[in-house]
Parts: sequence; C-alpha cells; structure tokens
Amino acid sequence: MNYNAVLWPVASLTLVSLLCSPASAADEPGRRLFGAPVVEAPELSEQEQAERRADFEAMLEERGWQVQGDVVGPAELFAAPDPQATQAAEWQYEPHRATIFLNFFGGPMTPGTNSAKMQSTCLKGGTLEYPGFNGTEAQALAIIETFQSQLAPYGVRLAYEQAPPPELPYAMVMMGGTPGLLGMQNGVLGVSCSSDCGDRWWRDATFAFTAAASASQTNTLATTALHEAAHAFGLAHIDKSFNSGYIMHPYVDQKPRVWAQDCIGYNDATGGINCQSTHDIFCGGGAQNTHAELLAYFGVNGPDTEAPTVSILTPTDGQELPAGTDISIEADITDNFEGVGWKLLIYQDGNLIDERPAFVFERKWGFSKLPAGTYRFVVQAIDHDRNIGADEVTVFVGNATPETGSDTDSTGGTDGTGGTGGTGGTGDTAGTGGVTGVTGGTAGATDTATDTAGIDEDDGCGCTSAPRPADSLWLLTGLLGLFARRRRR
Ligand SMILES: [Zn+2]
Repeated sequence: MNYNAVLWPVASLTLVSLLCSPASAADEPGRRLFGAPVVEAPELSEQEQAERRADFEAMLEERGWQVQGDVVGPAELFAAPDPQATQAAEWQYEPHRATIFLNFFGGPMTPGTNSAKMQSTCLKGGTLEYPGFNGTEAQALAIIETFQSQLAPYGVRLAYEQAPPPELPYAMVMMGGTPGLLGMQNGVLGVSCSSDCGDRWWRDATFAFTAAASASQTNTLATTALHEAAHAFGLAHIDKSFNSGYIMHPYVDQKPRVWAQDCIGYNDATGGINCQSTHDIFCGGGAQNTHAELLAYFGVNGPDTEAPTVSILTPTDGQELPAGTDISIEADITDNFEGVGWKLLIYQDGNLIDERPAFVFERKWGFSKLPAGTYRFVVQAIDHDRNIGADEVTVFVGNATPETGSDTDSTGGTDGTGGTGGTGGTGDTAGTGGVTGVTGGTAGATDTATDTAGIDEDDGCGCTSAPRPADSLWLLTGLLGLFARRRRR
C-alpha cells in the first residue's frame, strides 16, 4: 500500500504521473555534466509522437519481436527451456572483464548493435538525437555511487565522464529521455532491446528513462540503470513478493536494492522470462541466482595491472614490397582476463590514415593495391583497467626505403586517445576526417571503422575485417560461433 513505485512495465499510469515532476535544470540551455555538453530533450509534437509509436510497432512487426515488460526481443528469448537439455548443461565460458558506460550526455543514435557507435536495437531507422540526463551533476554522482557499489564485487568497470575508447568492448546505459522518444508507451522506466543470454555480446546499449521519474530519485534511477544493464546480460525478473529488495524485481522504488544472492523464483507479472535455459544452469529450473550469474560472467573483482600482449604475425617488420601489392595483417592478442579489445592503426609516411576498432574481434585485415609509401601497422590492445599493449611493423612499398622509418614513438600511449586528425593527403574522404581522436571528450565515440582513408579495403578477400553485426539481432545464435572461435587462445 505504501508502494510508491514507478513501474518498468505499463501498469499504473497514475503512479507514474505523480513522479513526472519537471526538472528545472532541463530548461537551461547549454548544460554540461562532467565538463561535456548534454543533449536536451526534444519537444515532440503529437504527430511526431504518433509517428514514433508507429515506427516502434512496425519495427516489432518486421522483426517478429515481443515486448515482455521492459525486455524486447525475439520470441526465442522467452521460450520455455527444454528440461533435458537443462540437466546436461554447464556454464562453459570463462568470466570476462567488462565496462559499463553510463551515458549522461545523450547524443545521436542509430539502429544497430554497437554501443561504441551509439547504436541501439530499440531503434528502427534514421538518426535519433537522444537526450542526456536532466538532473544535476550531484544527482548523477549519487546514481553513479550506487551503481558502482552494487557492481563492486564483480569484474566490471564503470565509465561516466566520457565514452571509453571504441575498441574496448563496453555496454552502455543511456541515462535520459522518456519511453515516448523510442515510440514506447509511457509507464516504463527503462528498456533493454538486446538481452543476450549469458552476456555473449559485449556492446549492448540499454535505456534508463530518467526523465520519466524525478532526477532527485537517485536510488530509483540507479536501480533502473543496473536493472536494464543486467537485462542486457541476460538476467530476468525475479521475486514474486510485493515488497522486494532485489534489483531484478520488475518494479522499482526509491529504496536501496541489491542483487539476489540465491536462487529466487521468477516474477512473470510483467511478461515472459528471458534466458530461462541459462538461469537453469545455475538454479535447475524456475529460478535465477543473480549473484552466481554475475560472478560467472564477470568474475570476482580485483586489480588488473597486466597489459595485454600483442604480436603481429604477418607481415614481417621491414618487409619490402612492390607498389600495388596486396597485404594481409594478422595479429595475436592475449591478456590475463577475457574482455580485452583492440584496434588496427595504419600510418602512411608518418601520417595516421586509418584506425579500425576490432568490433567483432577480428585478428586479420586485408588490403589490396597499396600505393607506394612507408606503412606502419600498429595493433593496440586495451583492457578494462585501461592497460595498453601494442605491436607494430613497418613495411616499405614501391620506392620507399627503410631509412625513412622515423616516428615510432606513439604506440602504447595513454588510454587509447588515438591520433589527432590524420592528415588527408592520400584519402578519398576529405581530410580523412574519420580518423578522429577516439575518446572524443563527449558521449559516444565516433565511427572510425567505416572510413577507408587512402587504402582500399579488399572486400574480396576472406581476411578482411570480419562482418560487423547488422541491424537485426541474432545475438542469441548468430554470433556465438565467432565468440567460440576467439575464445580459443
Ligand atoms: Zn526489467
């Protein structure tokens, strides 16, 4: 009765509307949080709202997806487990370190599966200028503190002052906006459209609709952010008790919440239960052990001071090749924890001309018809404590001679700040603008991967960067093969 809850799913519009007090800070132009500008919420006309609802419905229809409370995804996601398969199943993956970026800044979002490209599977088409947090920095910090303390037992790092470098695989929670911006009905405080069982995909973006509550309700908002991030890891709703203290309960209030430490029965009050087969591995059926799953996915927390090891296998350093040659770069990357990310940097005659985050953990890159020049290929890896390791080779193509190898000082720099504006001379994209600094200072890294400055990517070659995840979601099955491969070291 004293259940002053905001509901994730649609249930009680009266309760929700009580909490929709406007935040005065949202009205000030040019607001900044942690030194970076914050995107303001757009004013949507009735017609625009109706269009977004129609778009969202069309997206569900097109993909055959379901909305089950605040979890959106394909029917298989909510399927009942096969009891026989469950008995035989064991958790087979090593824990991986992870980073969650709480994005208080907002920014332009597009459909897709890659948080580092500001993509979300909740979006259907076009670009959505998504708003940032409408509260104060102190309120954001209160949310961050709660969020951090709940994740402290696990191998998960938190980022909030700026986006992590794009090559680091990170999950993102958008801390702003209202459900209507995505075309969803009011009455939910968050949504996850990329719930993948067992956290096999590491670049999810989810939403905590902070403007649907009051920015002062920092516990509510922190719980929501934890809850939505956890849905993206595959965790489901638990605990039928009305006055639950668990983060994965389908309803939220201002009281502090914790992860359940034992097998707790599901709560399907708001819809189907996602990833039951995975939960069954830990509880044997009908329940979820949230803590055990988080430990299995991320491992026990602890310091990590060991940098990743990178070794470029081909080409060999100092190799001389004729102009117009094709080349394949292959690297081996290892680290003391799973979860490491890396990128390829290409320098031509001393200028950084391309930078390719390995979004699907590709270890091979192919290029055809290299023009004459001195090329330096750097593969740089980064872990979740931002330890950096790199290897590099220099290759002389055409008339280039070995004596020109000059600037070898910039590998293994700090925190993946990337190059500062590659000079364009050879690029076919004006000034190779794609080679921007990857930390960028503001939310969301720029997409550095699609620009092909100067060098033609050899699409006909199987060794080219592996295909990136498309706009649709096959996280449950399609990518598992890829991950299984990269796990063999
Ligand atoms: Zn939920």
